Order: sequence, then C-alpha cells, then structure tokens
Amino acid sequence: MPRSRKALRCKQKQMEQKQFQAESKKLMDMMIHSIYTHKEIFLRELISNASDAMDKLAYLSVTDGSMNVNRADLKITITRNKDEGILTVSDNGIGMNKEEMEENLGTICKSGSLGFKQAMEKNEDIDIIGQFGVGFYSAFMVASSVTVISKKWGEETGWKWTSDGADGYTIEPCDRAENGTDVIMTLKADTEEEKYSQYLDEYEIRNLVKKYSDYIRYPIVMEVEKSRQKEGCPADKPEYETYTEMETLNSMVPIWQRAKKDVTEEEYDTFYREKFYDFTEPLRVIHTSVEGAVSFKALLFVPGKAPYDFYSKDFKRGLQLYSSGVMIMENCEDLLPEHFRFVRGIVDSQDLSLNISREMLQHNRQLTVIARSIEKKIKSELKAMLENDREKYEEFYSAFGLQLKYGTVSEYGAHKESCQDLLLFYSHKQKKLISLKEYVEAMPEGQEKIYFAPGESKEHLAKLPQVELLSSKDYDTLLFTEEVDEFVPQTLNTYMEKPFCNVTTEDLGLQSEEEKKEAEEKAEEMKGFLTFVKESLGDQVKEVRLSQNLGSYPAAMVPEAGMSFEMEKYMKRVNPEFAYPVGRVLELNPEHETVKTLQRVMTEDPVLAKDYAQLLCCQAQLMAQLPLDDPFAYSELVCKLMK
Ligand code: ADP
Ligand code: MG
Repeated sequence: MPRSRKALRCKQKQMEQKQFQAESKKLMDMMIHSIYTHKEIFLRELISNASDAMDKLAYLSVTDGSMNVNRADLKITITRNKDEGILTVSDNGIGMNKEEMEENLGTICKSGSLGFKQAMEKNEDIDIIGQFGVGFYSAFMVASSVTVISKKWGEETGWKWTSDGADGYTIEPCDRAENGTDVIMTLKADTEEEKYSQYLDEYEIRNLVKKYSDYIRYPIVMEVEKSRQKEGCPADKPEYETYTEMETLNSMVPIWQRAKKDVTEEEYDTFYREKFYDFTEPLRVIHTSVEGAVSFKALLFVPGKAPYDFYSKDFKRGLQLYSSGVMIMENCEDLLPEHFRFVRGIVDSQDLSLNISREMLQHNRQLTVIARSIEKKIKSELKAMLENDREKYEEFYSAFGLQLKYGTVSEYGAHKESCQDLLLFYSHKQKKLISLKEYVEAMPEGQEKIYFAPGESKEHLAKLPQVELLSSKDYDTLLFTEEVDEFVPQTLNTYMEKPFCNVTTEDLGLQSEEEKKEAEEKAEEMKGFLTFVKESLGDQVKEVRLSQNLGSYPAAMVPEAGMSFEMEKYMKRVNPEFAYPVGRVLELNPEHETVKTLQRVMTEDPVLAKDYAQLLCCQAQLMAQLPLDDPFAYSELVCKLMK
C-alpha cells in the first residue's frame, strides 16, 4: 500500500540520529585525516559500488521475469556543481532501503575496509590502500559531508543518509522518483597541500575515469562543455559557441576481453603505446585467456626497448590488475617474476571480482596461480620467438638479455628453468649469438664439454691460445664478455648434461692418458729449468709449469684453480677492499722456440736468462689483460735487452 504524504512528513520529523559503530568510527577517522596521496581513488570506489548495484538489479531481473529491467537503461551519472562545491555520483541500480543503509553505510565489518584498517594498524606502507576496496568510506577523504539518497527497487519510500564523518549520521525518509542511489559529496575546502576542487574539473574526472574505471560495463556519463561553429556565420569568419552535452567517459569493452581474432595489430599497438607511454612498438603481443581453477585474461607486451631506468632500482616491475574491468592495482608485482620484469601488461580476472576488496589477502593463492601461469606463458612465447623469429628475438635480447642472465643466476639458480633456454652467447666458431642448446647440438663427436672464455672483448678472447687450440680441433668456444656471464656456468654446472669448462682456468680435457703421462715425464725432465724460472720471478708468480694448450704462444698467465681473472676484476669492482688476489701461474710451452732458447741461455748466461724469464712473464701478463706490476721496470728491461 502506498504511504500517504502525510505519513511521510510525520516520519521526517522523526529524523534519526545515530552513532557509527566503534570500529567504523575509527576507520572514518583514519579516512578523514588520511595523508594518503591517492585520495583520487574515492571516485573509483563510488563508481564500482554503483556498478555493483546495477549488476545486482540486472541479476535480479534475470531471475524474476516480472521485473522488466532494461539493461540498456542502466548508467552512472556524474554531476558537478562548481558553485557549491558538490560532486554527485548517481546510479539507477538496486538502491537501498533504510535497514540496508544502516547496515551497509553505518558499519564497516562487511567491506574491504576491514582489511585496510588492519593494515593501517600494523603500520604497513600506506600505499597498500590500493589493494583494498576501501569502499564507500573513501568519500570522506575528499568530502566534509556526504549525503546518500537512495530508493530500493520496488519500494515506495526513499531514504536520505547524511554524515559529516565525525560523530555519526542521520537518516530520514525522502523523495526519490526512481530506484537507485545518489552519493552527494560536499568537497572539503582547498588547502595548500590538497586541491579538492580539482575533483570538479572536467578534465580531471575524465582522467580518473579513464585511469581506473574505463572498462566498467555500464556507461559513465557526465555533462561536458564543447565548442561548435555558430550556424549561419560566413565560412571565412567562423564564430564559435560553447554548449553542453552528456558524454560517456568510459570505453566499456576492454581490448583484452575481445577475441584475439577481432583485434588488429594496430589496435594492440595503439593500446600499448597509450597505456604504457612507449614510443616504440612492442616486439611481441601475448593475448591469452585461461579457464581453470582461476580464470583470467591477460594482455602482455614485450617492449622493443629497455626503459632508461630499467637496470636501476627505480624501475618498478608489475602488471596492472583488473577485476571485471575495474583497475584494482596499478603495479601488481606478485604477478610478474623478477626475471621477466621487462614485460608490461594487464591481467583481468573475474574470480577476484566481488571478493577482491574484502579478501584480497586471503586470495594471494589465486594470484600465485595466475602468476605461475603467466610465467610459463611468457617463457613459451619467448622460446617461440627465439626459434621462429630470430631477428626479433635478437632485438629483444639486446635490450633485455642481461636481465635473463641475472634471472638465471639469481637466488642460486632458483629460476634457471625459466631462463636458461633463452640465453644467447657469442659463438667463436659461428661468429654470431647462439643458444646453449644450439651449442650442444653442434658439438662434434668426441667433444665432451661446453667451452667458454671470459674476458673483456671478443677480439681479445679469439686470440687466446686455448681458444686457438680448440678451434684447431673444430671445437667451438663461447666468448663471455659481460660480467654476469661467468656466473651462468657456475650456477648451471651442466647444460643438457654437458659440463661447462672455463678454458682459462680449467683443464680442457683434451689429452689422452698416454699424452698426460708423456707430459708428466717431460715436466720431470725439465724440473731444473722450471725451478730456475720460478726463482727468477720470485713472488710475481705462484707456480711455473708446462702446458700443452698454448698453441703458437710461448707462455700464458693463468689463474690458480678456482676464480678466474675476470671474476677477480669483478670482485674488485664491486668491493674495492677485496683482498684475495687470484694466484698467478705462468705456463710455458715446451715446444716453442722461445722457451727452448730460454732453456739454452740458462746454461750459457744465467743472468741474461733471468731477464728473458722476466720478459716472458710480462708478456704473459699482458696477454691475459692484466696490468703489469711495474711497467717502468718492464720498459727498462726491454731497452736493456735491445742494446
Ligand atoms: P563493498 O563495496 O566492498 O561491499 P563499500 O564500503 O564500497 O564496500 O560499500 C558497502 C556496501 O554499501 C556495499 O556492499 C553495498 O551493499 C552498499 N552500497 C554502496 N554503494 C551503493 C550503491 N550505489 N547502491 C547500492 N548499494 C550500495
Ligand atoms: Mg565498494
């Protein structure tokens, strides 16, 4: 039975004054005094609530055929009253009756606000706010008073709820023609730190809607000012007039919700550039839809260039997280592993939708499932690119290869499965970048190890005697010129069951048992000579020994077992106080003419032989790209010998 106006008026007199629940009050205080920098999210929250209210109405009408709701009529309206500083968000959704207003707006226990409050109390980073649907209360971050006028679908009376946030709220009956809700905010006065009046600015509201609520499935409309040419004025003297028009601010259907086949390359491209502020087109677009324990859609991009701050601490990895078209986190780090941090993109999961605000924390498990699936997807896409689109892959690799190497070695190789197949190194034999798999597959019969040589430049490494020797057997050597390279074999130990071998520090494993025996005999035979050279050099070297690996060179300086010279340089660079120099070992080639000469001179003129030994030692030092301990002494020595 419709209530008479008299009854309504009578009810109005009994305006009820109520206190917030204790918990709600605490939260409200926090909101009002929030120093939070992203106050702007209040608009997202109110729009989401409006959208939820329309979802509820649409859902009801599906189950109740008599309701006759036309989904096309549902919309959210934003109204600005600049003169009075009032911003209103209205919807024609399900609405609330008196009990629901009390229940929903008078208490926080049911909303995401609870999680927010707990986080605040734990003194966590206040930025965490973005993770929670802080909900309706966020209006108090920008408004000094909030009035909610609402009428529930199918009921006669509307209700007006008002609060200035401080002590409590009042609730009274009021008129509202249709079902739905208006949230009317009287904005706070501008202060030096915060310009609240910006939320009445057309441009600002457009931006906020685009940023957070672009993919809400109902139109968000607002009256906007436009300009047009006046009718009837001459073409050469156009005059303009401004007029206002209702405009839909959101685009409603997100590109990732569309079927892959319906999206053009150009659309992906434009979307990427606009969303992620990049000038370069992405090298690869990954558009995927996963149905399962947790369903989600993802639209990911492999950028063409590394952002200028990519290898610095300032770079923030992460994907944008949406739930049913509403952006809930701008940079969700948990969705993207560190080693794939170069990927940009968005993830949208309806499974996070209605619960996200309330139970975000408990839902971490779902995020983990999504993250794992995304990691696999990125890996397989990069692999496909490596195998089928080499040119693009190399472009990608020159921008982000270093990140994959770091990824391989970080956390003691915990992520090597994701990264190792994606690495490229320079092949001495093929004169181009190859993957470890390609290296192993090209190994000739009899080759047992993956040879690599660490050093400063490819040109230098190509001339190393060990590399030359390997080449003569048709064995390839990977030339490692980046600092992190050498950590890769250390972390992996083997690849496709083949062990790695650092040609500058380890036995190349080329000698047969017989050859080894012969070498030992030779060393024994030349023991006196080796002792002489060692004594001539004193503390400059730890040991002097023979080597069969020196090819056309008389001598080489090699590190004592363990750390390589490159690693030593690296350690010194990262820690200038590093005090464990790698022992120098001088290797001599017994077949080389110069070594034979030295041996002869030793017996004829030991003083001259000492100088020769020093000369050989310095040469070996230089070839290993190690600085001379005393360059002046070396120069004097050369001059002396040339006399
Ligand atoms: P949440 O949306 O996470 O539930 P909120 O604080 O945003 O938390 O909102 C609290 C409750 O208030 C909502 O669950 C809903 O029942 C009610 N509500 C808020 N805004 C509206 C609205 N525009 N129309 C109908 N109900 C609303
Ligand atoms: Mg909400």
